[in-house]
Amino acid sequence: MHIDSLNNSVICHQCGLLVDVPLLQDGSSANCPRCAKVLTKRHRNATDHVLYFSISALLCLLYSVGFGFLEMSVQGQVRQITLMESVTTLFSLQEMALGTLMTVIIVGLPAIYVSLLIYLVGSIKLKRVSRHSIDILTVVGYVRFWNMCEIFFLGILVSMVKIAGLAHIEIGESFWAYAFFNFFLFAAIMHFDKVQLARAIRELTWERERPRQDSTNEASRVG
Ligand SMILES: [Zn+2]
Repeated sequence: MHIDSLNNSVICHQCGLLVDVPLLQDGSSANCPRCAKVLTKRHRNATDHVLYFSISALLCLLYSVGFGFLEMSVQGQVRQITLMESVTTLFSLQEMALGTLMTVIIVGLPAIYVSLLIYLVGSIKLKRVSRHSIDILTVVGYVRFWNMCEIFFLGILVSMVKIAGLAHIEIGESFWAYAFFNFFLFAAIMHFDKVQLARAIRELTWERERPRQDSTNEASRVG
């Protein structure tokens, strides 16, 4: 979906039709008249929900880095691994490219994504949007596309099922923190709507610049 920053129009990602989206009531959505795809949905208290879920996600992500992730024991030998050890092990094996990619996927992009969400939604809530807010919203859309931490977590779950037959596995605090991080991130994304946030940013920008425009018009009338 592409946001036209001047009009409340959205290009349908599925069929390419340009649709003029009206102001929506809480809980309602707008569909494409040609292919019926949902173009935008106005969630109740969306900014509050995105903000609280994003802050919770970031706290869980930070917590997950500092503690034991999994503990495996085979024939009396116990080995505990942390989330970051899954990456540093790759570096110690000289797998630099893979290690860097894993760092970006596990911690880098998710941290950037939730931080940008907190900044963006926080600035809307405090009515302190800037001329760069729409750019940040666009970046959030791109980062979301490349954010694959939930796929990483699913991969871990599948691996655990396979390893369970060979070793005894104990789940650490970090594992639960990373699971909750994924849950809160998913909840934030479910309440995030690019079109509605773009509209809120435009309205706040217009409100902020209106007194300046009024005084300019007044000055030109007097002059
Ligand atoms: Zn369509």
